[in-house]
Amino acid sequence: MRIDIVTIFPEFFRVLDLSLLGKARQTGLIEVTAHDLRDFTHDRHRTVDDTPYGGGAGMVMKPEPWGEALDAIVGDGASDALLVVPSPAGEPFTQQLARELAAEEHLVFACGRYEGIDQRVVDHYATRMRVRLISLGDYVLNGGEVAVMAMIEAAGRLVPGVVGNPESLVEESHEGGLLEYPSYTKPAAWRELEVPPVLLSGNHGAIAAWRREQQLERTRRVRPELLD
Ligand code: SAM
Repeated sequence: MRIDIVTIFPEFFRVLDLSLLGKARQTGLIEVTAHDLRDFTHDRHRTVDDTPYGGGAGMVMKPEPWGEALDAIVGDGASDALLVVPSPAGEPFTQQLARELAAEEHLVFACGRYEGIDQRVVDHYATRMRVRLISLGDYVLNGGEVAVMAMIEAAGRLVPGVVGNPESLVEESHEGGLLEYPSYTKPAAWRELEVPPVLLSGNHGAIAAWRREQQLERTRRVRPELLD
């Protein structure tokens, strides 16, 4: 999978050198490049924003640097890549959406800042490639970088080969519709708290039944709408 990120803070994505995704990059499973939007400006101040037409608070990201940056990545014609624009006004990011992103060969992420990117950037690229506006949740971040990081991590771990044991992906929260059951490891007693005895019983049927019951109870309590 190839991932290109356009941002005014490319150094933010150095964290992708770490852990499983860092390993996936080293082995070539995932190729990530973070591009500095300011490299596509032509003035002394490397300006990427301007005041909004119609007035109002804040600044809007100018379309020209975005056009140059995205053309440098996808070419100047039609593209098979998927352009993802993080936005609190987008469709909610879910595990299902993570699966869809993981199936893409080439993802391009456009990290907005300030009041966001001039709408014509989305409108223009929607004539040349698939574009999706995706929201991390119903709150407002300062920029798209944190949202893109979350999407890359959630999708990246679903790319075959990134997580060593694919079975560990199956029983997770949001994979089967329910939240995951609680997990325990050694020691069997810690600060007067004991591991549920059924987990020490060696009875696989009883353990599976207990875990299922825990999933249902936790989902009912925390996220009842998932049971609908
Ligand atoms: N004025 C915009 C609005 O009300 O929809 C919010 C702009 S926000 C301060 C700046 C950038 O942060 C956005 O362009 C987007 O890239 C990113 N962002 C903020 N909240 C987000 C969220 N919940 N999900 C995804 N991206 C978000």
